[in-house]
Amino acid sequence: MYLEKIHLHTFRNYQEQVVNFDGKKTILLGNNAQGKSNLLEAVELLSTLKSHRTTSDRDLVLEGEKEASIYATNQRLYGTTDLALIIPKQGRRTVKLNQENLRRHLDFLGVLNLVQFSSLDLDLVRGSPEYRRHWLDNVLIQLEPIYAYILQQYNKVLKQRNALLKQEKLDQLQLQLWNEQLATTGSRVTRRRARVIHRLAPLAQAWHNSISGNTEKLEIRYNPNVTWAKDDPNHVQQAFLEQIEKNHHTETRLRTTGVGPHRDDIEFLINQTLAKSYGSQGQQRTLVLAIKLAELNLLEEVIGEPPLLLLDDVLAELDPHRQNQLLEA
Ligand code: ATP
Ligand code: MG
Repeated sequence: MYLEKIHLHTFRNYQEQVVNFDGKKTILLGNNAQGKSNLLEAVELLSTLKSHRTTSDRDLVLEGEKEASIYATNQRLYGTTDLALIIPKQGRRTVKLNQENLRRHLDFLGVLNLVQFSSLDLDLVRGSPEYRRHWLDNVLIQLEPIYAYILQQYNKVLKQRNALLKQEKLDQLQLQLWNEQLATTGSRVTRRRARVIHRLAPLAQAWHNSISGNTEKLEIRYNPNVTWAKDDPNHVQQAFLEQIEKNHHTETRLRTTGVGPHRDDIEFLINQTLAKSYGSQGQQRTLVLAIKLAELNLLEEVIGEPPLLLLDDVLAELDPHRQNQLLEA
């Protein structure tokens, strides 16, 4: 995969900027606040339709303007695609592939694949479970864009079930229906999360071995809120319903859904201790690096060509040995 060109129009601090890329690696040099991270953010938006820096489209539009546009040309093994994303301050975005408007934004995902790594990513180890869930979900969306829809369905059910739990008089029949919906949509989410961890873990372990010089053993564990043993829809749904049943009293007291993948976590262990609480800064960095390299391998394996790799201020945080390993990969 190769990003040939990006064109920004009234996006962040850019009025009008065209960049043609012509090397295998591109290094952006500039002063603080000149717009380096903004440019990477534009690429991220084309890939995921999301920015890890903001959830408000208003932030993305150059001050004083009504909408931001990002255009790009992406080369892949099977051909070249023009992408366009138009982001108004308010209201619905427009996405286009080869100048054609897409009705379903889902079809835009997976056209440009990337792995990104910024200094913020130590949060992957240190941050809250929510951060790790987001990371995992984003990997899944890259591998299998339909997962964006699956996750959206689950979140819809969760929201409606929560609204129901907040009603003064709880309608048990209604609740029963939402329980089933939660189990169906939730099991789709948790089964996919487990599968991707299963594939990612050995790759990350191998990288971690090589970076740490075989002195440390990395383990990645998926810690689902609803535990299940067999990757089978009926079995997982059954486990959900049982867990919901068990949690019934707590739930009606707290009036919020306590069971489901919105409570999942992922654990990283180095030599059997939690990296979150015991890892040194250097160990945590090695860990994140190993995970990112594993992501790169897995994406390449699944989509059949190497994705883009975006690094924001990462090299400065790594020692020369690790810098080389990253750049070689
Ligand atoms: P650093 O080296 O410090 O990381 P950078 O080159 O990565 O800098 P960016 O984060 O890309 O910098 O750009 C930040 C600049 O963009 C800030 O000056 C900020 O005020 C400006 N900026 C961000 N959003 C907007 C916007 N919507 N309209 C105008 N300017 C904006
Ligand atoms: Mg920056």
